[in-house]
Amino acid sequence: MIDLHTHTLLSDGELIPTELARRFEVLGYRALAMTDHVDTGMVETVVPVLARVAADLAGEMEMTVLAGAEVTHCRPRHIARVVERARRLGARIVVVHGESPVEPVIEGTNRAAIEAGCDILAHPGRLTESDARLAAERGVLLEISGRAGHSLTNGHVARLAREVGAQVIYGSDSHDVGDLKPPENVERVLAGAGLGTKEIQAALAAAERLVARALEREGQ
Ligand SMILES: [Zn+2]
Ligand SMILES: [Zn+2]
Repeated sequence: MIDLHTHTLLSDGELIPTELARRFEVLGYRALAMTDHVDTGMVETVVPVLARVAADLAGEMEMTVLAGAEVTHCRPRHIARVVERARRLGARIVVVHGESPVEPVIEGTNRAAIEAGCDILAHPGRLTESDARLAAERGVLLEISGRAGHSLTNGHVARLAREVGAQVIYGSDSHDVGDLKPPENVERVLAGAGLGTKEIQAALAAAERLVARALEREGQ
């Protein structure tokens, strides 16, 4: 199983990156991205630390560990710049914190995230049909969230993605030890969003492809 949306104490998570990775390894995951919250300034300090840890763990674990970032609560016009900066600093997976139903995320964030070419639009909330279509066109994955609150609109996101041919992906958005769930939880969350067996397989395959693509990307 693969989880490409998690947090460490470099933002508002509880664990240092190496412990988070160890705990996911013990749970039996195959790949993990550590995607701490970043903005125009935090991207400079957070991403290089995650990139360093991911580089040190490469080849030391059965599990693939990827440095990432979650561009969070930025002004929409800053999003593309932060996505680009995160990639240049070594983020292999770039998530954008979408318009969750439980946070005052600025309207237009979903659109700006897709236009910026992030990998995953996290918890897109009341995603519009035109944004879903654009995500399908650009190959931006729409997240089905394992996190309470953000998950309120999972059904809406799954339905809209199916209608327009966009691809969904699971993300736990884990912050603390209590959030760390066994791999079976991934399929449970996807099924809970209304995905059928084939759609669940497609979501898992999309995660595999994204990891493969991320590994090919040049880190710095
Ligand atoms: Zn957080
Ligand atoms: Zn998150």
